[in-house]
Amino acid sequence: MIGSFTFENLPSRVVFGSGTLAQAAAEIERLGGKRALILTTPQQENQGRNLGTALGPLYADIFPGATMHTPVEVTERALAVMKACAADCVVALGGGSTTGLGKALALRTGVNQLCIPTTYAGSEMTPIVGQTENGLKTTVRDAAILPETVIYDVDLTLTLPASLAATSGINAIAHAVEALYARDTNPVTSLMAEEGIRALARALPAIATNSNDREARTEALYGAWLCGVCLGTVGMALHHKLCHTLGGTFDLPHAETHTIVLPHSLAYNAPAVPDTMTRISRAIGATDASQGLFELARRLGATLALRDIGMPESGIDKAADLAVTNAYWNPRPLERNAIRDLIARAWAGEPPGAIKAAA
Ligand code: NAD
Repeated sequence: MIGSFTFENLPSRVVFGSGTLAQAAAEIERLGGKRALILTTPQQENQGRNLGTALGPLYADIFPGATMHTPVEVTERALAVMKACAADCVVALGGGSTTGLGKALALRTGVNQLCIPTTYAGSEMTPIVGQTENGLKTTVRDAAILPETVIYDVDLTLTLPASLAATSGINAIAHAVEALYARDTNPVTSLMAEEGIRALARALPAIATNSNDREARTEALYGAWLCGVCLGTVGMALHHKLCHTLGGTFDLPHAETHTIVLPHSLAYNAPAVPDTMTRISRAIGATDASQGLFELARRLGATLALRDIGMPESGIDKAADLAVTNAYWNPRPLERNAIRDLIARAWAGEPPGAIKAAA
């Protein structure tokens, strides 16, 4: 049954396909840009310089210093380069870290952003940026942060190693999973969520078998886009909060943490969200949604235990305490001991279990 809901369509233009990078100059001009600052990580600097050559007179300069967690001091250095070359727009070419830098610059200056994602993180579809200062990460939501135009070019994702494709893809699935049971869920976002999960669950195993499978890479990028829309459109819950806490407290890698925790956080919420469980099971072709997601990660060769990505065993209790410290909405109330069980299973790499409610 469809009840009352609010759906806010975020204004962004999407160009999707193979070879679409060639449309970058036209898209910059469409935004009214005359001097573009290209942003990349050090690893993708050459790609950025090639794009600069292709942009010709629209190319102002490159800042190849994007890094994880959008540190404020990096943003300030990029801002200085932006001023020095009199750029009037930014082109972020890379994963969520590079997108984050473009957003941080837009937040401070209001410049238009052309975003060209090369992973499945989904940040390009959200008006949110997480920034780090003095080791503290804070999140800002602001309409100015949403990139105006996004070019998805499948060709750029072919170099994303299969292991990164797996964890980045499951990171995207996590956005869609939480969108299905969000407090402000709505039927339109849920359509995208189910389709996004289906596309990624089909494509990721094919990429793991053959990383040059163009059809699978296309389907994965399509799925990642849909999952990104979910993240930008509705609020997230336990899973994202837990990953944020674990990542921040123990300095764990972003996509890997999501991949390990997702089956367990979903198992925790399962009793409260039977419809969501049905939709996810249908999308991934499994009888049980959380077991199915655990099996998917295993099949992709992803790391399955938090202890294997650097979390100390002594952190389990600390993480459980932190998870219930700042109350936030979740479909199942936050129960400290049950959350501790969930984290302990994820730490050890066990399959997700039925997580008991407090007596
Ligand atoms: P990333 O951007 O840090 O990229 C990881 C590494 O892979 C980098 O060295 C990058 O240069 C390289 N890389 C990227 N694409 C490649 C490709 N196609 N081929 C070869 N190498 C490639 O990783 P990520 O997982 O995309 O992003 C994680 C960051 O994004 C985190 O800081 C996270 O908080 C943020 N994020 C933010 C949002 C949001 O809405 N604000 C959403 C999702 C993620």
